[in-house]
Amino acid sequence: MSAFFVTGTDTDAGKTTITAGLLRAFARAGVPARAVKPVQTGCVEGPDGLEAPDVAVWKRAGGEGRAISLFRVPCSPHLAARLEGATLSAASLAAECRKSVGAEGVTLFEGAGGLHVPLNEEESMLDLMRELRFPVLLVVANRLGCLNHAVLTLDALEQAGLTAAGMVLCRTAPPDQADAGTGAEAEALILSDNVESLAREGKRRGVPLLADVPYLADVSPQDEQFWDALADRLAGAARRLAEEPDDARRHEELLAFDRAHLWHPYTSAMRPLPALEVTGASGARLFLQGGASLVDGMSSWWCRVHGYGNRRLVRAVQRQAAVLSHVMFGGLTHEPAVELGRRLLSLLPAGLEHIFFADSGSVAVEVAMKMAVQYWRSLGREKKSRFVALRGAYHGDTLGAMSLCDPITGMHSLFSGVLPRQLFVERPTCRFDAPYDPASFAPMERMLRAHAGETAAVVVEPVVQGAGGMWFYHPSYLRDLRALCDELDVLLLADEIATGFGRTGRMFACDHAGVSPDVMCVGKALTGGMMTLSAVAATRRVAEGISGADAAHGGGVFMHGPTFMGNPLACAAACAGLDELCSSPWRERVLHIQQTLEQNLAPCRNAPGVCDVRVLGAIGVVEMEQAVDVEAWQKYFVSRGVWIRPFGRTVYVMPPFVVSDEELHLLAGAVCDAVTSAAVHGGSPALDNNGRPYSC
Ligand SMILES: *Cc1c(COP(=O)(O)O)cnc(C)c1O
Repeated sequence: MSAFFVTGTDTDAGKTTITAGLLRAFARAGVPARAVKPVQTGCVEGPDGLEAPDVAVWKRAGGEGRAISLFRVPCSPHLAARLEGATLSAASLAAECRKSVGAEGVTLFEGAGGLHVPLNEEESMLDLMRELRFPVLLVVANRLGCLNHAVLTLDALEQAGLTAAGMVLCRTAPPDQADAGTGAEAEALILSDNVESLAREGKRRGVPLLADVPYLADVSPQDEQFWDALADRLAGAARRLAEEPDDARRHEELLAFDRAHLWHPYTSAMRPLPALEVTGASGARLFLQGGASLVDGMSSWWCRVHGYGNRRLVRAVQRQAAVLSHVMFGGLTHEPAVELGRRLLSLLPAGLEHIFFADSGSVAVEVAMKMAVQYWRSLGREKKSRFVALRGAYHGDTLGAMSLCDPITGMHSLFSGVLPRQLFVERPTCRFDAPYDPASFAPMERMLRAHAGETAAVVVEPVVQGAGGMWFYHPSYLRDLRALCDELDVLLLADEIATGFGRTGRMFACDHAGVSPDVMCVGKALTGGMMTLSAVAATRRVAEGISGADAAHGGGVFMHGPTFMGNPLACAAACAGLDELCSSPWRERVLHIQQTLEQNLAPCRNAPGVCDVRVLGAIGVVEMEQAVDVEAWQKYFVSRGVWIRPFGRTVYVMPPFVVSDEELHLLAGAVCDAVTSAAVHGGSPALDNNGRPYSC
């Protein structure tokens, strides 16, 4: 079974005739086929209600089909709908279209007009096509100017990430009348050159010209002969389209290669956990091979705050790729880096003035550690080279960053003798949502007073400890820490890689405490998750300190410089990501997500096996008494249409800020039901016999 979207370079390109001819060609070849018109305007009242003119044409050709949304006025869909008090949406039309895909053979979905024909004030036909992601058959009206229209349409399809299955050239007007003034000879030359030029362009792009349909002068469409002649012309095209793309087999081969050769995060190369194939994504939804979709409860590990397919972000990357995708940052600079620097300075806590761009979160942490060490060395205080970190912390996977992670969950034993040994303090015991108990700061105070002389910096994830246990602690702890660092001359290094850019309800988690660190790392959501980029921001004091060093202490230069430092593509994505954030009501949205999660996760609180439920900003956590079986829980969540990947004893969601209420309820409902089901099924939620969730 396969489906195609038929679109034209223009209105009256001949889409309906070609669709009808293809239906006849499929029928002759014994391929079951049908056509569907998502929106039909210009309908007339018939004996059984509104009749769709295009469906009538298909029927005349011997084909079958139906229209989904029917309107009387013959005009653009958005206008016809408005005149009849209706509204069209790409998402709901797409849902109807998906239901209309035949179980066998080929289904053709015929658009209205060209790609940018409006469906409503926000969306166009292209948005419907984007939702459906069917390969596209482009009908090109063969006339003067058609090459330009065809190339623009192919470009637009490419930019929308759609595949063009092929083109059909179609001559809809008789000679002479058509292009008045050009003369018959000149016209013939133009039309035949169109065929050659279009075939050449198609070849360059891998889009075949499947057929060239001339004006069928001597027969009328009322005549069977007309349709036979047309079907003859389209027989080859129909054969190509009907060739089973065999997506299922391609999928099996892809998964087999993946299993055999690709390492996934924290998995065995020999016994990998199952992986699902994602073929696209939109908003908060991931599309899986086979047509299912999942609501992404993880924001792809904190980063996709604006969801997927955000126009501003996609355009920024496409534009920058065409201008300058990469250039070395040594001795050269560019607008995206400078613009990103400007934007960051306007958002970062006061005092952070010097920015180093790096390529990932872990590298940002390495860079920050090196900054701290170089700072003290340049002041001649070589002894200050250790770091104080919190238990339950996560700072990344490279050796330096890993040395700051919780010694148990960070698997320090596996790398003992290789990792630098840092000083660990118990995780802050004061909850975010309880009154601050100054005694909870005592362990940190003891450690720092004892070791300040050898400590370069204290490294913390402010307020929210992420991957190390999803723990939220009181902002006053940070205030106490800032004061003590100042008193004892120790740098404060804030890792905001997970918490930055609104996730906790403030722009940065440090803002909950009104504290400015000496060095701060950001990453993850910086580019809206479009690509990897991180930044390390330092105060003037730190930058000046490093810069003042004599030759024996580094000569005043900071010794780091990754190949892809300041990558223009990533910087452009980050500029667009920050613009999107700042122009959106993110504070209200995050607060709304927080309130919805608080309400909807509350039922878990009393479930057996649960030891805590906590919510802060757009992060909801259910902490279990026992570590969960990731594979079993994940399987349950997938069966519920959500993507949630538990970790250790925590089952948590941190959806994109663009998540809808319905999607939020789906996420929270799945967590609650999983917890309840796990309580009666030995720790993991149970699926019923069909692989569907056990209803509890
Ligand atoms: C994810 C994360 C890192 C590491 O970032 P990568 O881009 O995965 O290297 C560091 N610190 C925190 C707090 C993180 O959440």
